[in-house]
Amino acid sequence: MSAPLVAFLTGAGISTDSGIPDYRGPSGLWTRDPDAEKLVTYDYYMADPEIRRKSWQLRLQTAALTAEPNAAHEAIAALHRSGAADVWVITQNTDGLHQLAGLPGDRVLELHGSVRWVLCTDCGARTPMRDALVRIEGNPDIPGAAGEPDPPCLSCGGILKAATVMFGETLNPAVLSEAITVARSCQVFFAVGSTLQVQPAASLAGLAARGGARLVIVNDQPTPYDAIADTVIRDRIAAVLPALLSDLTDR
Ligand code: ZN
Repeated sequence: MSAPLVAFLTGAGISTDSGIPDYRGPSGLWTRDPDAEKLVTYDYYMADPEIRRKSWQLRLQTAALTAEPNAAHEAIAALHRSGAADVWVITQNTDGLHQLAGLPGDRVLELHGSVRWVLCTDCGARTPMRDALVRIEGNPDIPGAAGEPDPPCLSCGGILKAATVMFGETLNPAVLSEAITVARSCQVFFAVGSTLQVQPAASLAGLAARGGARLVIVNDQPTPYDAIADTVIRDRIAAVLPALLSDLTDR
């Protein structure tokens, strides 16, 4: 018999133990910077070089780029490696921590893109964020190697942005469609660290449940899907998920 298909929908709560703040929280980015919404809105970003310069400076400081996976990311990767389950991760996070924990990239459906990559808005070239940040910082030891505050695409000169989905952009339809297929066909659907309030991600939990999957919600707050879940666990994710998944791995 083939291994059961186990899907994980992960949100901000799985990465808070990696030191990545949940931006919706009271001390989040949204409340600290009056320009915060412009910084993540496509039209403002494309129209205003000052917004772009500010965005790149923020990316230099973003916790997501230096964060390390925690025990919850590791436990999901370990379940995949064990072969006890056919593991798919659908994530609302852009931090790339599932892949850093060792889950193959083709098993991670990043609904909102990734901060670890940069996209050219003109030619579509995809390059590592790290390379762009090196250009922004420049090198104080090399004369003439000053930083570029708003580095253009090296192939075509176009405007670069992080490979994340900004306000005013649509989700990648191929990624979303694959996520729907996974939700419909899985045997177990874990919703981990997601408030299940942002669509279309949240509706995947309902799709999975209607498709006959066992729905397990692990989150520190109540969610709108708790009532239809088979199991609801309100606890610290990095503490509780490894124990939950080791049951599956050992089966
Ligand atoms: Zn380009």
